[in-house]
Amino acid sequence: MKNYANEEILYGGCPGCAYAKHEFELPCGMAYENDNFTLSQDWELPIEGFLIVSPKRHIEKLSELTDNERNEMFDIVNKTIKILRENNVCDRFEIIFEEKENRHLHVWIMPRHKWMTELVDDIIDNIGTILEYAKSNFRSENVYKQINNITKIVKENY
Ligand SMILES: [Zn+2]
Repeated sequence: MKNYANEEILYGGCPGCAYAKHEFELPCGMAYENDNFTLSQDWELPIEGFLIVSPKRHIEKLSELTDNERNEMFDIVNKTIKILRENNVCDRFEIIFEEKENRHLHVWIMPRHKWMTELVDDIIDNIGTILEYAKSNFRSENVYKQINNITKIVKENY
């Protein structure tokens, strides 16, 4: 797997579990973590403000979270969006859960950037196009710098 800056990520077993244990890091570092969750720039996608909330223990379904964990996870999503909005990263967001077989559950907080709505009519219908477009067009020092800045803003305001 390659990270958003086109560097190889090395890990053993489940990547979500490996990241929770700090077995690998991103160039921008982690935006926030507590005992149960990590909050971080998406590992692979060079999209500014595209953050992932992931439980530290291996969970594949939303229903496997305890009530407290679920509350905590939604609090993190809510607080993160508030910080991104207040710091003018973006005003509107897609919040996406994917319960994939054999895959560590995580929540995508995806800013609805202007370039996305210019590229496609409907973001969710064309999510693959958007992700591929980002990988092909946004691997640049300027974008990496913005990603670092946004992680720093979240860290400082959390
Ligand atoms: Zn896992």
